[in-house]
Parts: sequence; structure tokens; C-alpha cells
Amino acid sequence: MSPDARTNSDLDTAWTVRWIRRSAEVLAAERAALNTLDRDIGDGDHGENMDRGFQAVLPKLDGLADDATPSTVLKLLATTLISTVGGAAGPLYGTAFLKAAGATAAVGTLDGMALVALLTAARDGIVLRGKAGAGDKTMIDAWSPAVDAAQAAQSAGGSAPAVLTAAADAAARGAQDTEPLVARKGRASYLGERAIGHRDPGAQSTALLLRAAVDATRVTE
Ligand code: ADP
Ligand code: MG
Repeated sequence: MSPDARTNSDLDTAWTVRWIRRSAEVLAAERAALNTLDRDIGDGDHGENMDRGFQAVLPKLDGLADDATPSTVLKLLATTLISTVGGAAGPLYGTAFLKAAGATAAVGTLDGMALVALLTAARDGIVLRGKAGAGDKTMIDAWSPAVDAAQAAQSAGGSAPAVLTAAADAAARGAQDTEPLVARKGRASYLGERAIGHRDPGAQSTALLLRAAVDATRVTE
């Protein structure tokens, strides 16, 4: 058994499960920081909401059937988020992962093209549900650059992990780039110019989730 992490370019059901477990770990660690971002321009519960939803899915992952696919796992996450996370983020992320499950149905292993389809469907689901556009200072400002970067990496022949890395890097930049914006959707839109200088919490949680997806490609055996 080597302590070195190796990159597994087959993004299968086990990867999907690792993605959720890693997300739960990161969201628990960042819970207070996400609450603080939401306290600045919202009601202070975004970290709590995300942590609650991802903790709720963990025990269910242990009960997955042997023939579970990435799509089955994403659907389980989606339904859990919809039923346990309140506020704006629950239905938005729930819809995102439900659409992602639909876009990857019946595929056992996700290649770069399938990942682009997954990310695009997630982003489009959020737009359908929340009607936010680019620059409205929402999680879309992390998702949309992530989708564009994933598409570009896939077109350039990047592997599935390379596609995910491009997406995560772009989401992190997108989250940072929400700081100077005025919000046009969600609670932060009530603040007008007072939202300037604060990072959008949902864009930040999206960046964390996509970074967790990259972390999940590194398997230690
Ligand atoms: P609530 O605002 O109900 O307290 P959360 O704090 O959990 O819910 O989530 C807030 C985040 O939800 C925001 O930071 C923003 O990224 C996202 N959000 C809110 N409204 C929308 C929308 N219409 N479209 C996309 N994202 C949105
Ligand atoms: Mg909130």
C-alpha cells in the first residue's frame, strides 16, 4: 500500500461518493466562515444550511446498492438537500444535483464530456429555478465560469480530472469576483450598494464543492 496519492482518471460511483464525503468534510470545516459571509450580506445561515444538508446524506451513502451509478448518488444528494436544507440554497443546490443526475443517467464512468454535461446541467438547473444571470452576485457567478472553463479544458483534450480542476479554479476566481458586485437576487439584493466589498456565500460554497470534486480524484491506496 503506497501512501502516495494517485490520480484516478476514471470518475466512477466511488468518486461520486468520495466527492460528497469530501464536500461534507470541507463544508463542516468552513461552516463558520460561510455563516460569516452570509451574516455580512444575508441572514448568517448559509454555512449551517450546507453543513446540515451534507451531514444528512452521509449515513445514506453507506446504504447505497452495489449497482449504484454516479447518477443514483447525485440523485440521493439532491433529494436529501431538498428535504433538509431550507432557504434559497436547498432548492437551488437540490435542483442542480437533480439535473446533474439526469444528465449522467445510466453512465457508469464519467469522462470529461460527461463532466461538462453534469456541470452544465447543474448550472442550468439553478438558473431555471432562481433566474439569476451573470453578475447578479449569486452562486451562478461561480458555476458559469466553471462550466465555461470545463468546456474549454474538455475541448483541449483534457482528462476528466483536468476538466474538474479547470472548473474548480474558475469557480474560485468567480467567487472572489463577486466581491465588488451589487446583488440583484436573493437576500443580499435588499442591501443595494452595501453588498459591495463582500463575497457571495453561495458562490463561495460552490467553489468549495468543486474543489472537493478535484480532491476526490486523488485516491490514496
Ligand atoms: P437564504 O438566503 O434563504 O438564507 P442561504 O443563505 O442558504 O439561503 O443561501 C444564500 C445563497 O443563495 C446566496 O449567497 C446566493 O449565492 C444564493 N442565491 C440566492 N438567491 C439566488 C437565486 N435567485 N439564484 C441563484 N442563487 C441564489
Ligand atoms: Mg442565508
